[in-house]
Amino acid sequence: MGTALAGPAVRPALRRGGGPLGSTASGAGASAPGISPSTASGASAVSAAPGAPGASAASGASLSGQPASDPKNSRPPLDDDLAVQQTAHPDDLDVPPGVDDAVRDYLYKMRRFDHRIPVLRAATDRLGRLERTVGHGFFYLLGFDEAVRVARNYPAVGTFSPQELALIDELFHADASAYGFMGMKPLNSLTATIPAREVHKVPGMGNYVYQGEPRATWETIRRLLGEEVVLTSGVRGIMKQFHLFLTKAAAYGGNLSLASRSLAPPGYSFHGIGDFDVGQRGYGARNFTSAFTATPVFRRLEELGYITLRYPQDNMLGVRFEPWHIKVATA
Ligand SMILES: [Zn+2]
Repeated sequence: MGTALAGPAVRPALRRGGGPLGSTASGAGASAPGISPSTASGASAVSAAPGAPGASAASGASLSGQPASDPKNSRPPLDDDLAVQQTAHPDDLDVPPGVDDAVRDYLYKMRRFDHRIPVLRAATDRLGRLERTVGHGFFYLLGFDEAVRVARNYPAVGTFSPQELALIDELFHADASAYGFMGMKPLNSLTATIPAREVHKVPGMGNYVYQGEPRATWETIRRLLGEEVVLTSGVRGIMKQFHLFLTKAAAYGGNLSLASRSLAPPGYSFHGIGDFDVGQRGYGARNFTSAFTATPVFRRLEELGYITLRYPQDNMLGVRFEPWHIKVATA
């Protein structure tokens, strides 16, 4: 596969202020990427998470044209029981009186995309078809420009509509604190690519880790813990994060605040620059729940000092406690 990843390397860095979406239409006629065989991995559990019981009730309410429902009353169960211990999002706060109508409207729209549910769903479905077409492994590394190109060239995926591209652009460049996600944004370019030489495909896992410290950290963990530990999610490029986040947002009826409580919005995930998730072999989706803390793998990692949490319990960043997430990136 590697050749498909050629292109200007925009190594993610701590740059602020996303650039314009100038390259949406670039690369017309370029060759399609190599299609790699599907490499399913434990990370698929993340995609499945939005189907949590209760999520459909929330979407139903939003789709009925009642966008003003109080999230505290219609709040679906969170993915993880520990998530309830985090602080309330600003989503729950009223906009102070005297705020300009345009600002109020902006804040509302940033919190909830339910007014654009059909577009959100269309983009989510298209990303799903894209993932199936290019294969799960390759999809982890897929950049925005290439995603647009492949979609256009493969009828099974279909061209992204201008509305879908506008939604993706707006979501990427929005300040996520407007809907309550207070974490840092390590990726500031929607069109950043992941050069193949900068990542390492982990044998048997269907996932990648960045070369350098992330790879060394994973290999040390693997050496110390052996076969019991698995890499459940490694490098996640922009489009992979978009697919995960939009899937969750769609399940929550377009409520970005709810979606961001259990998943970093696109651009805000440290999986884009070096962090990765680990799990207990054979533990499946439970590796992404608090139950993971009861596994031998977690206890061993804790003893060895590898649990330096990106998002500790009771963190103020609007992100749930994620004991399976290994912090490597120094951003
Ligand atoms: Zn993670």
